[in-house]
Amino acid sequence: MATKTTKKTTTKSKSPTKMVYYFGKIKTDGNAKQKLLLGGKGANLADMTSIGLPVPAGFTCTTECCDQYYKQGRKLPAGLMDQVHAAVKTLEKENGKEFGSNTDPLLVSVRSGAAQSMPGMMDTVLNLGLNDESVVGLANATGNERFAYDAYRRLLNMYGDVVMGVDHHAFEAEFDKIKKSQGVKLDTDVDAAGLIKLCDAYKNVIKKHAGMPFPQDAMKQLELGITAVFKSWMVPRAIRYRQINEMIGLLGTAVNVQTMVYGNMGDDCGTGVAFTRNPSTGENKFYGEFLVNAQGEDVVAGIRTPQPCEEMAKTWKSKSDKNIGKKIHAELMNIKKVLEKHYKDVQDIEFTIEKGKFYMLQTRNGKRTGAAAVKIACDMVKEKLIDEKTAVKRIPAGDLTQLLLPSFDPKAKARATPLVVGLPASPGAAFGKLAFTAEEAVERTHAGEKVLLVRKETSPEDVDGMHSAAGILTSTGGMTSHAAVVARGWGKCCVAGAGAVHIDEKKKKITVNGKTYGTKDVLSIDGSTGEVFAGEIGRIEPKLSGDFATVMKWADKYRKLKVRTNADSPADAKRARDFGAEGIGLCRTEHMFFEGERITAMREMILAENVGDREAALKKLLPYQRKDFIGIFTAMKGLPVTVRLLDPPLHEFLPHDAKGQAEVAKVLKVSPAKVKSRVAALHEANPMLGHRGCRLSITYPEILTMQVTAIVEAAIACKAKKIDAIPEIMIPLVGTKKELSILRAKAEQTIADVKAAKKFKGKLDITIGTMIEIPRAALTADLIAQDADFFSFGTNDLTQMTFGYSRDDVNSFLPDYINHEILEKDPFQSLDTTGVGQLVAMGVDKGRQTKPKLKVGICGEHGGDPASIRFCHTVGLDYVSCSPFRVPIARLAAAQAALV
Ligand code: ADP
Ligand code: MG
Ligand code: MG
Repeated sequence: MATKTTKKTTTKSKSPTKMVYYFGKIKTDGNAKQKLLLGGKGANLADMTSIGLPVPAGFTCTTECCDQYYKQGRKLPAGLMDQVHAAVKTLEKENGKEFGSNTDPLLVSVRSGAAQSMPGMMDTVLNLGLNDESVVGLANATGNERFAYDAYRRLLNMYGDVVMGVDHHAFEAEFDKIKKSQGVKLDTDVDAAGLIKLCDAYKNVIKKHAGMPFPQDAMKQLELGITAVFKSWMVPRAIRYRQINEMIGLLGTAVNVQTMVYGNMGDDCGTGVAFTRNPSTGENKFYGEFLVNAQGEDVVAGIRTPQPCEEMAKTWKSKSDKNIGKKIHAELMNIKKVLEKHYKDVQDIEFTIEKGKFYMLQTRNGKRTGAAAVKIACDMVKEKLIDEKTAVKRIPAGDLTQLLLPSFDPKAKARATPLVVGLPASPGAAFGKLAFTAEEAVERTHAGEKVLLVRKETSPEDVDGMHSAAGILTSTGGMTSHAAVVARGWGKCCVAGAGAVHIDEKKKKITVNGKTYGTKDVLSIDGSTGEVFAGEIGRIEPKLSGDFATVMKWADKYRKLKVRTNADSPADAKRARDFGAEGIGLCRTEHMFFEGERITAMREMILAENVGDREAALKKLLPYQRKDFIGIFTAMKGLPVTVRLLDPPLHEFLPHDAKGQAEVAKVLKVSPAKVKSRVAALHEANPMLGHRGCRLSITYPEILTMQVTAIVEAAIACKAKKIDAIPEIMIPLVGTKKELSILRAKAEQTIADVKAAKKFKGKLDITIGTMIEIPRAALTADLIAQDADFFSFGTNDLTQMTFGYSRDDVNSFLPDYINHEILEKDPFQSLDTTGVGQLVAMGVDKGRQTKPKLKVGICGEHGGDPASIRFCHTVGLDYVSCSPFRVPIARLAAAQAALV
């Protein structure tokens, strides 16, 4: 079983005593704080009831029941149904109607809802409690036969699909037949007689596909409905969604059983979905869609195209009430105010209007893009809804990436005409070749292609494909459709509802205004405008808003960690500095050896047979290195730059194929055989555990001498130009104190030699430190610290060596490890705080035992990962270092770490 229970409140054999929490006028057991127990939906239904909002009464079966259901081998916990029966009794009293009655039946919905929202991933059944007799009762009681059978056919369809496992298409085919026979397109145009026929057809479909009839007993329906929701916790798409979103430690889903209210009784009824502010941009403007005469799922499913709530006041008039639209709109505006004041955040709501009366069915904090998160947080501080600290804590640090992503160049766009304009469902600028199924998108992305996933409308089954595609394009579905909601949650570019796009999934083609595009064609989609273009449109760097600067200013105020960057070129250094980097934490020197003539000199050095030849080759490299360092020191003037000496094994600089070796031989005027034999001599079985890092400088000290000379000369050259260079020399892959002692002495000697040679009398602040990236270095950090002015944890190598996973090959088995939950996350992306983290903590402690003020940082992928940054804060590092684009993320994550 894959559910992890970090919070064990129950033992294996014992059912929790209170399993059902009621919400209604009679009593309300739960509250907003109980999201883990009641799920987000259940906790908020209870909470909204408590603050007096119009919520249909109901009750919630706890997530502990779901946990028990799986622990006991897929059986409902003992006693649950007794508590359900009791709650149903209360519900009957509250509504003055009887569940299972044949005259005027009480109907309920059965709704899933975990602690964290998983839009559309699990199941819901509406209108439970209807059967062949009570449908007649409902028709009589309401005087509305069409409505009663509409409710029944929905129940049969949803129940058949969710509880009895009948394929939804089987129902759709029957509905299409009836619509055709009545000559209508919309489901709302099918009359009562048609719906009666449809219900009979649906019952036959169920019997045929499920091998048993639709259960007529209301209580049986309810029990099986509850069970089905628990089951839906473990369907593959739900499991996958939790993996992608790193949702761990949840007990399961709660089940909400709630009195039905009917949005499908006529033109004074309706249903809708809304955000209290724009979830794409963050603009403080109510943002929703609704349908007249419809039940909940219709809006999201994209069956009919919903109308924007903005127009409600003008467009919605019913026979019984000309002003219904105006009234409901005013109600919505009031709800926005109440909810935002209460939850102090943007809400994503579901509502239904039954005969002009407004009901709230759900509220939750709205998923939003990174840009919207920043704007909303800043606006809410201005509106005094929240304070600065709350604002800083609330913005998901990783989502800032979205603000730093490029957008389409307006000039390039002006030259192109959009093929079609859909809805701007989730901002961003994406291009790619077309993929027509989720699996295809996953496969082709894995193979290295950039693809756009093109679907009529996405379904929860598609999450994997949506996640891996560069962007998503749908032809139906509105701004609150599945694709739109999920894409915004991830900050993935999405254009929805591009109706002019006709998709032929079988032939893997789309036609747009007479033109055809297939799997080899590239389209560009602009998720901020909804435009779709043929071909690839050029992109430009983003401009950062004033709100972004405000958030960064707040972050800087609260964080304790400094943030540096990993940069090897002046351009990267400058960009990172613009993003707020306070120095370079890792400047790799090997990249400097690859370009143009440098690689030739490098190869000459590697092929040299004696020290003299090697020194001669290194001399050619010196001016290049010096120039690079001057560039970087200049870009970072006044800020420290940690330069790591040569790290990779030498064979990485030599070609491994005969043709490449022949070319090298020619250029260097040596025999091809010599090159070949040198490559063979340098071959290693485990290059990552081989002759690299400081081991190179032990064997070939002249490499260190050349590099340190270049650093010192560059620093002196900068000082001459009044540029304050602060180099820090970092010796990689140290595992013993002795390695560092020897190389430190060598470096110090070189610094002194260069100063003497250059007759430099001023002060040069050059410190010498090491990377801690071999477990032994962490274990003996107290000794190593004797010769180190600073430590920088190289957590990529440290992870590799602690786990014994080759980071270059790990993907052959890592996915299995994640699937089996052997590992929670990729340890190369997010620091394994339990294991590798111990070595980091120990390294810091032992290092500071020797030198209490030892400066300690981290470089490598983990330096830009919010969870890892939190850990770095906890163990008392001085700084993190990450790639330039992650610098703002690190600043925010560091503040969040300081504010918990
Ligand atoms: P999801 O999590 O997929 O949104 P929900 O449980 O929220 O599933 O329900 C799906 C749809 O059915 C929503 O639009 C919701 O508003 C509607 N719905 C659920 N319960 C009721 C009810 N008791 N009366 C009317 N509509 C309901
Ligand atoms: Mg919902
Ligand atoms: Mg390393």
